[in-house]
Amino acid sequence: MKPLILIVEDEPPLIEILKYNFEDAGFRTSLATDGDEGILKAQEEVPDLIILDWMLPKRSGIEVCRKLKQDKHTKTVPIIMLTARSEESDLILGLDSGADDYVVKPFSPRELIARVNATLRRSKPSFGEEKLIYSDIEFNVSSQKVFRNGSAVPLGPKEFRILNVLLEKPTRVFSREQLLDRVWGRDVYVEERTVDVHIRRLRKALNADSKVNLIRTVRGGGYSIDEDQ
Ligand code: CA
Repeated sequence: MKPLILIVEDEPPLIEILKYNFEDAGFRTSLATDGDEGILKAQEEVPDLIILDWMLPKRSGIEVCRKLKQDKHTKTVPIIMLTARSEESDLILGLDSGADDYVVKPFSPRELIARVNATLRRSKPSFGEEKLIYSDIEFNVSSQKVFRNGSAVPLGPKEFRILNVLLEKPTRVFSREQLLDRVWGRDVYVEERTVDVHIRRLRKALNADSKVNLIRTVRGGGYSIDEDQ
């Protein structure tokens, strides 16, 4: 699964440069050319990181940043602000509004991508790793294959994605709502019990040959991957 970068920028040549360089570096991109569209796009499909220009039509980048950091669905998404040199004195304001980092224009795309990778590694410890391993589960990110105790586990796309989310932070409990947002996205309406159906399938596939259950159900809370149940 390629990480999704939302680019909110109003200068067409810069949009092109950013889109090209991010896609070349193995990211997916989503684009918005003003603040309102940026907020909308971030809510439609929650990105892994947002590149946010400071000077935008309609709403400033600062306002957009504040708004996204107040929304429970987007508040944990890291934001890197792009600023012009003349705005540098206002950087405190940018960081106060919740931005995680900033890059001053003009910048080299290579430098920006390095900053993005560093920010993603901080927010998602599993980012960039080829394999996620927990207990006897081996989750191969690049080949999209899952093994338990050395045997391949056949999984549907939704079960694969749920396991990916759970393995990002083993033992952490994810609510049904969080799993819905991460696996299905916010643009589709899916009932919370759909999560239960897919968790059952995931468990069945992982627990074949009477292996020990690793998917923990937390009553009223959600699900986690945990050896200690
Ligand atoms: Ca601008």
